[in-house]
Amino acid sequence: MTHPAQPKASHFINGEYVEDTAGTPIPVIYAATGEQIATVHAATPAIVEQALSTAKAAQKAWARMTGTERGRILRRAADIMRERNHDLSVLETYDTGKPLQETLVADATSGADALEYFGGLAASLTGEHIPLGDDWVYTKREALGLCVGIGAWNYPTQIACWKGAPALACGNAMVFKPSETTPLCALKVAEILIEAGAPAGIYNVIQGMGEVGGALVTDPRVDKVSLTGSVPTGKKVYAAAAEGMKHVTMELGGKSPLIIFDDADIDNAVGGAINGNFYSSGQVCSNGTRVFVQKGIKEKFLARLAERTGNAILGDPMDEATSFGPMVTENQMNIVLGYIEKGKEEGARLICGGRRAGMDGYFIEPTVFADVTDDMTIAREEIFGPVMSVLDFDTEEEVVARANDTEFGLSAGVFTKDFTRAHRVIGNLEAGSCFINSYNDAPVEAPFGGVKASGVGRENSKEAIKHFSQVKSVYVRMGDVEAAF
Ligand code: NDP
Repeated sequence: MTHPAQPKASHFINGEYVEDTAGTPIPVIYAATGEQIATVHAATPAIVEQALSTAKAAQKAWARMTGTERGRILRRAADIMRERNHDLSVLETYDTGKPLQETLVADATSGADALEYFGGLAASLTGEHIPLGDDWVYTKREALGLCVGIGAWNYPTQIACWKGAPALACGNAMVFKPSETTPLCALKVAEILIEAGAPAGIYNVIQGMGEVGGALVTDPRVDKVSLTGSVPTGKKVYAAAAEGMKHVTMELGGKSPLIIFDDADIDNAVGGAINGNFYSSGQVCSNGTRVFVQKGIKEKFLARLAERTGNAILGDPMDEATSFGPMVTENQMNIVLGYIEKGKEEGARLICGGRRAGMDGYFIEPTVFADVTDDMTIAREEIFGPVMSVLDFDTEEEVVARANDTEFGLSAGVFTKDFTRAHRVIGNLEAGSCFINSYNDAPVEAPFGGVKASGVGRENSKEAIKHFSQVKSVYVRMGDVEAAF
C-alpha cells in the first residue's frame, strides 16, 4: 500500500503536479525508523526548463495585479495552512523526523505567519515623491522578476514560505527547490497557494540535488537566488549568482555564542541553552552551541542543565509526548557522532548524553560537554546536531572577544539581570539575530539573518521586502531641457 506521505508526483509546475520518471529516484526515508516512505524523482533538464519558462511567463501578470489582490491570496493561503495544521505537521514529521510536539507549533504555523504577514504588507509597497523645485522624482518599488529559492532540510515548510511569501508579495514568481532530504512539504505549500487563488506558475516546486540547484542558479532568466544552506554551498551559489549579477539572500550556518553571566536567573539560562541546542535535535542554524558560562555559577548551571536534559523524551515522533526526535538522516547522525568522539578525544568533559539512542532510526542523546576550550573542534565547527559545548569565562571583555573569534555571525544571546550590560554586550557581538534573556525566537516580524560567513541579506520583517524588490527612480522635468549645444 502506498504510504500517506507519498506525493501525487515529484514536482508542482504551472498549478499542477508533474512527473518525469526519467529523473534520478530520490528515496524519502523516515528518520525515526529508517523506513522508506516515498520516492520522488530529481528534475530532468526538461522539468527545469518547464518550471523556469512557466514562472517567467506568469510573473508579469502577477506583478500587474494590485498589492491588495496579491495580499488577499497570500492571506487566504495562510488560513488554509492553519486549517490543515495537523496534517501538514504530520507530513513535516515524516519529512524531517522532528517530533509532532514541535511541528504542530513551529512549521506550518510559522509558514502561515509569513504568508499572512507578507500578504498584509503587499498593498503597502509604495515609492516616494521627491520634490526638486518645479521638477520632481518619484520612485517605484518593483518586483525583481523570477526568483529561485533553495532550501535546507531542517524546516522544509517554513523555508518554502519564508522565501515564497515575500517574493510573491512583491510580485515575483518563484521556482523553489527543497533539499533532496526533505522533498515533501514544499509541494503542499505550492498546492495550497493554488487553492487560495494564486495564478498557475507563480510558485513552482522542483526536486533534485545540488546539480538541479546549480542549473537554476546559472539560468540567465533568473533574477534572484535565496539560499538556506551551509557556508560551503553558500559560497558556491553566491559565486554562481555573481556571474549573472543576480540578487542574493544567503542564510547560512553558524556557531553562535550564548553568554551567561553570574547574575543570570539560572533556570531561565538553562532553558535558553536547551532551546538553543536541543530544539529540532539541534538541527537549527541559529543555535547557541558555544555556551559561555561565567565561572561563579558554572557547576550550578551544569548540574541543573544535566537534570533538565535528563527529562527529554526520546521516542516515536508521532507521539505528542515525545520531545526529542532523531537526526534527519543516517549520514547526519554519523557526522554528529564523529564530532562527539572528537570532543572526547580532545579532552572535553562529557556531562550527559554522548551516544546513539536505540538502533531503529537515527537518534542521538542530547549531549553536553563542559570544560570546552576555544580551540577544540566542537567549539569551532558547526555540528548541526544535539551537542552543546559549555565554556568558562571570567570577564565581559574576555568573553566578547572570544565569542567574536569565529568566521560565523548568525546569532548571539546573553543572559544577565544587568540590562546595561546586556545591551552593551549585544552591541559588541558580531551577529545578525540576537537575544537578551531568551534564545531562538524567530517571529516573522523580526529580521532574521547573519553577518560575516553566516550570510547576506535578511529574511522576514519589512527587511525581506528590500531583498525581493528593487527601486526605480523617475525624474520628471516640468520645464524646457537645457543642453550645451
Ligand atoms: P547544504 O548547503 O548541503 O544544502 C542546501 C541546499 O542547497 C540543498 O537544497 C542542496 O541540495 C542545495 N545545493 C547544494 N549544492 C548546490 C549548488 N552547487 N548549487 C545550488 N544548490 C546547491 O545544507 P543542508 O541541507 O545540509 O542544511 C544544513 C545547513 O543549512 C547548515 O549549515 C545550516 O546552518 C544551514 N541553515 C541555515 C539557516 C539560516 O537561516 N541561516 C537555516 C537552516 C539551515 P541537496 O542537499 O539536495 O543536494
